[in-house]
Amino acid sequence: MKVHFKGTRGSIPTAPSSDVIREKVVATLLAARGKDLRSESQIREFVDKVLPFQDGHTYGGNTPCINVETGSDDFLIFDGGSGIRCLSQDILKANLTNKTYHIFFSHLHYDHIQGIPFFAPAYIPGNKIIFHGCHNTIEQALKDQMRTPYFPIPFDTFAADISFEIHSPSETLNLCDVEITMHEQNHPGVSYGYRIDQGEKSFVYSTDAEHKKLAHGKEYPFVDFIKQTDMLIFDAPYTHSQSIGNREHWGHSSNIMGVELAARGEVNTLALFHHDPASTDQELDDFLSHTKNFLDRSKLAVRETRPGIPGAPSPRAHPNEVIVAYDGLVFEL
Ligand SMILES: [Zn+2]
Ligand SMILES: [Zn+2]
Repeated sequence: MKVHFKGTRGSIPTAPSSDVIREKVVATLLAARGKDLRSESQIREFVDKVLPFQDGHTYGGNTPCINVETGSDDFLIFDGGSGIRCLSQDILKANLTNKTYHIFFSHLHYDHIQGIPFFAPAYIPGNKIIFHGCHNTIEQALKDQMRTPYFPIPFDTFAADISFEIHSPSETLNLCDVEITMHEQNHPGVSYGYRIDQGEKSFVYSTDAEHKKLAHGKEYPFVDFIKQTDMLIFDAPYTHSQSIGNREHWGHSSNIMGVELAARGEVNTLALFHHDPASTDQELDDFLSHTKNFLDRSKLAVRETRPGIPGAPSPRAHPNEVIVAYDGLVFEL
C-alpha cells in the first residue's frame, strides 16, 4: 500500500505568506554560501540532503485528506478536507473516468468535509462516489455546507452516482482489496479511527481524538486497535503541556501521547498529523526533534531498569521511527 498525504493541517487551511517564502529563499541562499553548486544535480542534492526541511520545503496547509493506493482500481480516501482538491487535480490531469471513489469520514467537523464541493469527480457523470462513515448525519452535513448562502451551487449539482453507507463501528468492511475496521474516539461529537489491513501490511488513520488519563490504564482498547501496525497516523497538534493545560478537552492529543501509545501498540512508524494552524515550519521541525528526543530517552530509561531485574519491562522497541506528515508525502508500507 502507498499512503498519499494530501492534507495534514488541522482546523483551517493555512497558506504560506509571501514573507514566509521570502525567508525560506534567504535562508537557502545563506546556507548555500561557499558550497560548490554549479550543476542542477548538485543544487538538487543540496536542497534534498543538506537544507533543513523547513527551508527547502513546507509541511503544507491543507486540511485532512489521505488517499490510499491499494492496487485496486477503486479509490480509497479518508476525509474530505481541503487536501482533497489536490487529489481532484491529480485525477483530472490523469483524465480518469468511470471510477469508483470510496470516501470515509472520521467525523463531520468542517476541516474534514470542506473540500468535498471542490472534488471534481463528483461533477462528472459515470463516476460513482460512496460516502462512508459512522455518523448518520453525513448526508445532511454535506448538503448543508453547499446550501445558500454558504455555497453558490447545491449538492444536487453533483452528476456522479452518489450514495451513502453508514456503518456500525463493530463492522469489518472489505473493499478496495483491504480490510477496514473502525474505532470510536473521544472528540466533540465523537470521531472514528480506521485501521486498514492488507496481507502483512497495515496502518491506522486516527485523527481528532483526545486520549486522556484512561489511556494510561492497563486495558485501553485503542492499544489493541493499533496493535503491530506499520504506521499510526496520529492526531498530535499539541505539546504535552498544552494537552493537559489550557487545551485539555479540546478533543486533540499530544506528540508525547502519540509516542506512548505507539510504543504500547508496537507500531513501527508514528506519523504526527493534524498540525496546529499556528505552527510554523520551523516549529514543526522543532516539534519533530523534541518528539525524537523523548522517544530516545524513554527507550533508554526502560533499558536501564532492566538488567537482572525479574519482571522489569522489556526494552522499548517501538516506535522505530517518528515523522511529521506533510502535504505531498507518499509513504510506502
Ligand atoms: Zn480536525
Ligand atoms: Zn474535529
